[in-house]
Amino acid sequence: MPDLPAFTYSRPRDLAAAMTAIGRRGACVYAGGTDLLVALAERRPWVRFVRELVDVKGISEGKGLRERGARLRIGALTTADELAAHPLVRRHARVLAEAAEQTSAPALRRRGTLGGNVSSPHPAGDVTTALLALDAMVEVADRKAVCEVPLVDFMRTQAEGWPRQRLILAVTVCKCRRSAFEKVGARPAFSRSLVAVGVAAIDGALRIALGGLRERPFPSPAVAASVARGEGLETALAAECRPPTDALASDAYRLRLAATLLRRAVARAGLR
Ligand SMILES: Cc1cc2nc3c(=O)[nH]c(=O)nc-3n(C[C@H](O)[C@H](O)[C@H](O)COP(=O)(O)OP(=O)(O)OC[C@H]3O[C@@H](n4cnc5c(N)ncnc54)[C@H](O)[C@@H]3O)c2cc1C
Repeated sequence: MPDLPAFTYSRPRDLAAAMTAIGRRGACVYAGGTDLLVALAERRPWVRFVRELVDVKGISEGKGLRERGARLRIGALTTADELAAHPLVRRHARVLAEAAEQTSAPALRRRGTLGGNVSSPHPAGDVTTALLALDAMVEVADRKAVCEVPLVDFMRTQAEGWPRQRLILAVTVCKCRRSAFEKVGARPAFSRSLVAVGVAAIDGALRIALGGLRERPFPSPAVAASVARGEGLETALAAECRPPTDALASDAYRLRLAATLLRRAVARAGLR
């Protein structure tokens, strides 16, 4: 790891202390560090404001995974490895377990957390794509209160970097019996997805989320309606998506990939 800029480190023991720390000038939430340490090492522009890393791994509200009625409440500190292996996730939110087990590489899956994934907006975040298929809500604390907001709204207010002054405590997702995740990246490990898709049947309705095809992963009721009607996917995908062309793939290739992955996920989940 290259040299890091100078900063102080604190590890609050409870939520009140964490919120005080996060409110300090130059404070930045630190969870698994898989994204943050890279940003610090690369000296991304926003990093020059960071003076203190606030390690939130001791906050009990961010831990644990349990059923809550028709939903699962998943603590923000849950790692990708834990998500992939947890029996409740495998039984009720398979799309999420599959996304977590295909994220990055073993060393990063042992450290990278759910809260960090949701906080780090990436066009093809695997876990975020799966969460959107499951109609996720984010439980977030600021200095005044804890509230729950739909993930899709939360993501609209997220930009890369600091300052945030809010702490994700948990994410809740709808429980469902049939769901699946598919992705393709440049390599099987240590590589972000080119395209990721999540599908789930919730209360009898098909939900589809797409990653890598706009600035952020997004849910697509229009594509889900096309699938439900048994129509060809290409037209709906072309209308919904704005895929980039870059050194790895053209926009047309990404769209074809999305259609293939969607068909695969829908079939594997038994949704057609
Ligand atoms: C080489 C590499 C490959 C990767 N491949 C993939 C991949 O295939 N798929 C994929 O989805 N992701 C991938 N990632 C991304 C990364 O592993 C995840 O986003 C990870 O879950 C981030 O969690 P973290 O706990 O490490 O976050 P950190 O690095 O600790 O923090 C990341 C950001 O989130 C903020 N933050 C963290 N937790 C919270 C919280 N609870 N509340 C508020 N803000 C918070 C931090 O302040 C920081 O700005 C990859 C990353 C790397 C470096």
